[in-house]
Amino acid sequence: MTEAEAIDIAKKRLGKRSIVLVGLMGCGKSSIGKRLAIKLGLPFIDADDEIERAAAKTINDIFTDHGEAHFRDGERKVIARLLGNGPQVLATGGGAFINPETRQRVREKGISIWLRADLPVLMRRVMKRDTRPLLRDGNPEATMRKLIEARYPIYAEADMTVESRDEPHDLAVTEILHRLATGPAAATTQTPSPSRSVRVDLGDRSYDVLIASGLLADTGALIKARLGNVKCGIVTDENVARHHLSALEQSLKAEGLFAGSIVMKPGEATKSFRDLATLSERLLELGLERGDLVVPLGGGVIGDLAGFAAGILRRGIRFVQIPTSLLAQVDSSVGGKTGINTPQGKNLIGVFHQPNLVIADTAVLTTLPPRQMRAGYAEVAKYGLLGDAKFFAWLEANWQGVFGNHGPALTKAIETSVAAKAAIVARDETETGDRALLNLGHTFGHAFEAWTGYSDKLLHGEAIAIGMCLAFRLSEDLKLCPHGRAERVAAHFKAVGLPTTIRDIPMAKANADELLRLMGQDKKVRGGKLAFILARDIGEAFVSREVSPETVKAFLTREIGR
Ligand code: NAD
Repeated sequence: MTEAEAIDIAKKRLGKRSIVLVGLMGCGKSSIGKRLAIKLGLPFIDADDEIERAAAKTINDIFTDHGEAHFRDGERKVIARLLGNGPQVLATGGGAFINPETRQRVREKGISIWLRADLPVLMRRVMKRDTRPLLRDGNPEATMRKLIEARYPIYAEADMTVESRDEPHDLAVTEILHRLATGPAAATTQTPSPSRSVRVDLGDRSYDVLIASGLLADTGALIKARLGNVKCGIVTDENVARHHLSALEQSLKAEGLFAGSIVMKPGEATKSFRDLATLSERLLELGLERGDLVVPLGGGVIGDLAGFAAGILRRGIRFVQIPTSLLAQVDSSVGGKTGINTPQGKNLIGVFHQPNLVIADTAVLTTLPPRQMRAGYAEVAKYGLLGDAKFFAWLEANWQGVFGNHGPALTKAIETSVAAKAAIVARDETETGDRALLNLGHTFGHAFEAWTGYSDKLLHGEAIAIGMCLAFRLSEDLKLCPHGRAERVAAHFKAVGLPTTIRDIPMAKANADELLRLMGQDKKVRGGKLAFILARDIGEAFVSREVSPETVKAFLTREIGR
């Protein structure tokens, strides 16, 4: 697409909405904004200039004479007024988007673009001028670091994130124009991310899964309203802590619920006896009592480990899951399975312990690495493949929207997945029957994970994606499923960027006997018989213990040769 074409489409898609640039001081809002406005033939407005004009004072003087709260209030009003003025490119001050009312207004009237820059880039730019009120005192770099920690999780709610690097700003402008023309952020006249709630119905242990963009900042209030005045011990990992811990801590502190945070090493190896022991002792040191809460903030690893710790601490204390990976939001945070790994296998030690609330903030997924997002998507597709053909067809048509920026398609995908899991868990909490269907692709997948040593060579969701392709191919081979279904599943996974065959695993050639042996270590083996989840069609999975080891071996040999 030429630039002229991109501008034309972007303008049409923008309609009457404004482009609202957000980000920290020094991220390039004015200079990128002005260039963008010229390209789009729109006025460029700098909200800070308007505030100074309205107050007839400089921002520094407003801060000095009246304090930050007064400035923020004026800023909120000025931006509300400006947003009523039709299409424009509006650059906002660094703190403006942090105000929830302003965020809501921006959502209604514009497309927000976060110009994200790393600390050194920002420092180089802001140190050239000394007019920024928040950087006047003390150590500017430490202040900037704190602002990054506090604000980046909230900027991440913007419709689009664009990196602002040490390179000509015209490049960022070109990227924005192209994404406005092609991306989901501008696709509809309004893309609010709706708020959803799914009930997991388990009698007096029932709980809600709340799904919406921006929930992290409301966690303190949500917990207080639902579970009372409790102390909360947060458990997270280093990666998640970097992006989202301070927002959660602030939210709990604001309600007087914060007891402390424990930051674990990221990765599957943390689901170990050793880490369980350390974590349990540190939770006790936080002084958590029976009525208090463990709050896992992280992916499935943190959820499984901290959920297990909650299940055994003082013979079981309550916990609130805050899943931060797509996989955790649609699968591991719901249903109460908790546990750790041992040299004998994955998840062989654990307890069923249901959370009291699950808070799935879709905005936190913007910091999830794309590969992890794809791996989590495999579990989303699983719900379609195992019991909901219409949902799978919807995913085939809408997956790009799901991977877009926390819009309604992502919320719908998470809600549908959680509702499917909740229904199965409500029917069969401890997996004596139906719940086994959730293991579609897992008998094969777990063997692949063991084969690759649970390493980065193959993520859990990737292993399950290959496993599901194999489950459909085996179902076709056994004439249980009409021809062509396996190809349809694989085509969708390929489009998304997921692996679909054993040969996609970056290992030397597989050995069918070895894979069969690893499959025999699966938890679902009973009386030496392997359980397979097979399919009669897309959306019609069933449990079978009738497939003989010889059949599986011959099938694996064919698959290895594919
Ligand atoms: P994970 O917890 O290791 O998270 C994946 C990676 O993404 C980690 O490096 C993590 O630090 C990082 N991360 C998570 N959220 C992030 C965010 N918002 N921004 C930036 N980085 C982020 O792995 P996972 O895929 O979430 O979960 C896999 C685990 O879940 C496995 O141990 C599996 O056994 C378990 N699981 C449990 C259940 C269950 O029912 N309990 C179901 C499925 C899977």
